[in-house]
Amino acid sequence: MEKSITIRKPHKLDITLNNGFALMPDIISFKGKRTLISGASSGIGRAISLRLAEAGSDLILLDIDEIGLKNIKDAAEPYGCRVDTYNTDLAKKESIDSFWEDIANELPDIIINNAGIYPFKDYLEVDKNFYENTLEINLHSVFWMCQNFIKRRGAKGGVIVNISSIEAMIPFKEDLAHYSISKAGVMALTRSLAKDYGRKGFRVNCILPGAIRTPGTENLVKKAISKMQLHLIRTGINFNARLTLGRWGKPDEVAKVILFLASDMASYVQGTMIPVDGGFLSC
Ligand code: NAP
Repeated sequence: MEKSITIRKPHKLDITLNNGFALMPDIISFKGKRTLISGASSGIGRAISLRLAEAGSDLILLDIDEIGLKNIKDAAEPYGCRVDTYNTDLAKKESIDSFWEDIANELPDIIINNAGIYPFKDYLEVDKNFYENTLEINLHSVFWMCQNFIKRRGAKGGVIVNISSIEAMIPFKEDLAHYSISKAGVMALTRSLAKDYGRKGFRVNCILPGAIRTPGTENLVKKAISKMQLHLIRTGINFNARLTLGRWGKPDEVAKVILFLASDMASYVQGTMIPVDGGFLSC
């Protein structure tokens, strides 16, 4: 576990200096909150879970990777938070609804819709099953997760952070049309919900990651090299050239921005799309 840092609070008399605003340690703390993270077993989801545990949140972790769930629970619990794990397949609406029934008495305050898949396939070879599976996991699940959250939280309100992709803004890699539209849908859903439910106490925002080194993206790179998929290797080189920071990012670098959006630091941020992409979309 990382060393804990003590944030110094001002002496009581100094509180007037803050003009009545909440103090920074309270704004960045997630103590007393429950956060639901999907796709928590791996990559970005795992990093978010660990940072939230460190910041004091209790966790509801959802994934289809049972072993990964156990590993992340073991890694998060030493921070002193409560961790509940759910082996749930987001491709099925019935599984999503039954998951929400299971947690109905202890709803989360915050949900992070992170789980997603990015299988490559030539547009002309995409069949109905493949297409529907991508849409179910990447887009429809986010639709049903948000609907359950908003319906059940009602007047209590809450915070939603959805994970889209830079591919929704600039479809750059070949063979990802199905993926790009699923992630563009996540952006549209985010904006719609931000508009419809902002006045009802819900903050809804979206992150656009790009070039983050995770087990998912590492497998893709290995596959492209081992199968000598030259068109993907060439695109990979062009892709790297657009990263103005000159390197791929770490999952934790996405997690930190998500913590900002999920916290009161972002209390006036609504319906926005924040790229965390090493500069990819900036040039
Ligand atoms: P990852 O390492 O593959 O992790 C995704 C997790 O989601 C895995 O544990 C996976 O389980 C789980 N999952 C997949 N299908 C599921 C389902 N039907 N139900 C429940 N859980 C499921 O992915 P990542 O790279 O961290 O990406 C996380 C999110 O960021 C995704 O939405 C992705 O599209 C987005 N994103 C990532 C990047 C990047 O550069 N990494 C860029 C843009 C957007 P299994 O491992 O068992 O499949």
